[in-house]
Amino acid sequence: MIYAKRIRGNKTFSQFFRSCVAIFFILYHSSGFAKYKIGSFVLKNGLMVVCIEKKTAPILFFSIWYRCGSICDAISRSGVAHFLEHMAFNTDKMTFDHFLEDNGAQKNAFTSRKTICFYEIFPKECIETVCLHEANRQTGMQIDDEVFMAEKRVIQEERGQNVDNDPDGAQTEAVLATIFNRRNGGIAILGWKHEIEAISPRDLLDFHGKWFAPNNAVIVISGDFNLASLKECLERHFGINPPKDIPQFPLGTRGHQSNCQKEIHYGSPKNGFGAAMEEIYHAPSMIKGGLRKTISLYMLIGILNQSEFFIKKTLKDILNCASGVSFQYVRGEFASDIVCVHITAHSIDHLNEAEAAWKYLRQRLLQVGITREDLDIAKQQYRLSLAHRDDDIESMSNYIGWLLTRGYSLEEIQSIDNIVQDLSVEECNDLLREIFSTEPHAIARTLPKGYDRE
Ligand SMILES: [Zn+2]
Repeated sequence: MIYAKRIRGNKTFSQFFRSCVAIFFILYHSSGFAKYKIGSFVLKNGLMVVCIEKKTAPILFFSIWYRCGSICDAISRSGVAHFLEHMAFNTDKMTFDHFLEDNGAQKNAFTSRKTICFYEIFPKECIETVCLHEANRQTGMQIDDEVFMAEKRVIQEERGQNVDNDPDGAQTEAVLATIFNRRNGGIAILGWKHEIEAISPRDLLDFHGKWFAPNNAVIVISGDFNLASLKECLERHFGINPPKDIPQFPLGTRGHQSNCQKEIHYGSPKNGFGAAMEEIYHAPSMIKGGLRKTISLYMLIGILNQSEFFIKKTLKDILNCASGVSFQYVRGEFASDIVCVHITAHSIDHLNEAEAAWKYLRQRLLQVGITREDLDIAKQQYRLSLAHRDDDIESMSNYIGWLLTRGYSLEEIQSIDNIVQDLSVEECNDLLREIFSTEPHAIARTLPKGYDRE
């Protein structure tokens, strides 16, 4: 909601537009991304556009990010944001899909808790048709009853595959619903089965009417373009869409539902499936430390995930009790951020052994922390991942679009590479102690089918 907030301030649209054009030119010439020219501007109706120029191939990657997602689903209507993504994705399907196919182009879309994103990759000559299609999708939606019912079946199947018949998916759903309430992101993106069933075409139209507007979207476009004609094309297609009053995200004030430790046992519905354990820790509030603290935590999690780091090495190679060990930092999806520790094992006995060992290793981790060498390896890995990201217009656009819709400015995003190289071991170790010196907020176990633990 960065620019929406600014627009609601004292500036008029045109003052805002002029100041953004000025920012665009400064950034365009002093980009931190060496292989790209990057800049941004805002149309008069509040639509933000980020352009990343890279002329290595005559193609474009176009993505449009709406600042709304499953967290905006109405009470008793979970799954509306995701359902809307499916229906909007199929808008004008016959003509647009044929057009893309004839030109060797591709399209896709996804929904998260705070974003719905549509994207296309295509030869640069196709930009007019893509803009026309995306601009229409922003303003209008017609729902055919038959298509609606068919899509509902597709979504129930998607839920079946990813949640109901997938022990990992089902465990994640149960854990999140237990530790976060509905307004704080505990709701499943796909929606609860019975609530999906209750969704009507009216629910989708209401959601679209509320959140789909130029001043609630960011376009990230990368590849081979001429800036002046691109701006003219975007103005022509999107510039005519009127802005709307966008509601605030319905985020609750409390991050977690309660402070008592929760233990969740989930019985796997599948034969032969092993056992798994997940611990959820509070990530410290990043509001005060801001971006630098968030980056430190990402680097720290990267180190904990290194196969040569003593935790994974002990659990997997030395004790041979865990089949998988992973650490994850989830930022910006819920009202408060979390760190998850996930251990899988081939049997419940192996899981018990791995859990006991992890308890000991956590204490050891608090004592010894990470070393300068660990951090240097992580920085080196980051440099390598940068090279991949900067080489691929799709990765670059997704990286920027994701961070922009998580509340970071383009200037902040461009400073990340320098922050990473500047991080110290002390900063990472302070953060490590802040997280792991408290007991986990929740522990969830997936038990093999038929196993009942007291
Ligand atoms: Zn889907």
